[in-house]
Amino acid sequence: MLPPEKKNKKLPSPPQAVFNCSMCGECCTSVTVPIEKEKAHRLLEKPWVKTQLKESHRVFEELDDTHYAMPLDDNRVCVFLGEDKKCMIHGHEGEALKPVECIRFPFAAIRMPRLDKDSEEETPTLRYDVSASCKTVATQLLTQQATIVPNKAFATQFQNDLAAMVHEEAFPQKIRVGGFKTVALDGYQLYLDELVRIFEDPIGSPELALKRTAQVLQSLPNRPKTQVKSFQFWPFWRHFSLYWFLRRPYGIMDQWAVLTEGEYSDPKILGMGGISLKGHRRLKWDEHQLNPLLNGYLHILLQRKALLAFGHSLASVLLIAVSGYFLVQWYARTLALVQEKDEVTEEELTLAIRLTERYYTGHQPYFLEFFRVFPGVEGCLWLSMG
Ligand code: SF4
Ligand code: SF4
Repeated sequence: MLPPEKKNKKLPSPPQAVFNCSMCGECCTSVTVPIEKEKAHRLLEKPWVKTQLKESHRVFEELDDTHYAMPLDDNRVCVFLGEDKKCMIHGHEGEALKPVECIRFPFAAIRMPRLDKDSEEETPTLRYDVSASCKTVATQLLTQQATIVPNKAFATQFQNDLAAMVHEEAFPQKIRVGGFKTVALDGYQLYLDELVRIFEDPIGSPELALKRTAQVLQSLPNRPKTQVKSFQFWPFWRHFSLYWFLRRPYGIMDQWAVLTEGEYSDPKILGMGGISLKGHRRLKWDEHQLNPLLNGYLHILLQRKALLAFGHSLASVLLIAVSGYFLVQWYARTLALVQEKDEVTEEELTLAIRLTERYYTGHQPYFLEFFRVFPGVEGCLWLSMG
């Protein structure tokens, strides 16, 4: 049972940080952006589009029944990104013919249902999920301990498009905690409040924050009774997790390298040539400098409501965050090694967060789907927590 004062609690407005796109053009590189087939067909009628595709020797290739992929050039940059880093489709045709993914990025939104369906006062609220693969989010906004929201003009214009991705109806009235355990929406609100409290210490250890989050999950729908003071993940689980999830284009060779600090290769992410992982775990890691960024990343990941609407449990989202934490640390260290540094700095950590979001926790359906359907999520979560 919830404490009485929590009943019918009005959703508080968390502090907000307004996002403004810096037009860096980085979200137009490397990733496969789907474009709705109808928009692509209309674009193909435009002479300037035909010229652009002809000059770049590219076509729209089919992705699935409803989408093509935006063509990328040899450097894996969208062929419609101008030299001035502006989108040519936007320039020539306006927003209407741009892929919906490009219009929304870095946001997904979800209309939260009313806590009390009978109350006239409670209106559904729009809550945003934001991708930390965006450069501005990762470099400027993650450390602000605030919900990242679009600027007013954008929000007004695209509110319905954004919210249409996940409707109020799609958001479950009972949130699955894990296994068969569920909580009502006000219990879920309690969980979100606790997350703010846990992560408001900007230099607190991310490991401790994840452990405390697990404690809150175990105690739902009540408040947690105990507080851990220190915590470290079971080392075996960290290694197993990397071994299992890390991209390994060279298969068994790369897996072996991860385990033994050998020669690892991933040309798409780390450039050509293998990287010796020797000294990987011994690189200096300044917690005071790096924790705020890492905590900001974990906090937005744990609040990812769109995953709940697509059938994840809170335990599965937490295990995603734990795995994301291991992956970010691994990439940050590897990027420092690539540059022959002896210390991980904010620069490597920021890039590691962006890579992890792009290739795993934010935009990789196979990775996310694993946690949704895997029946052993809870077992793995408690194993990882020692
Ligand atoms: S990565 Fe972010 S800041 Fe850069 S262009 Fe894309 S949305 Fe804008
Ligand atoms: S269509 Fe425009 S916004 Fe979308 S990836 Fe290409 S250049 Fe970027």
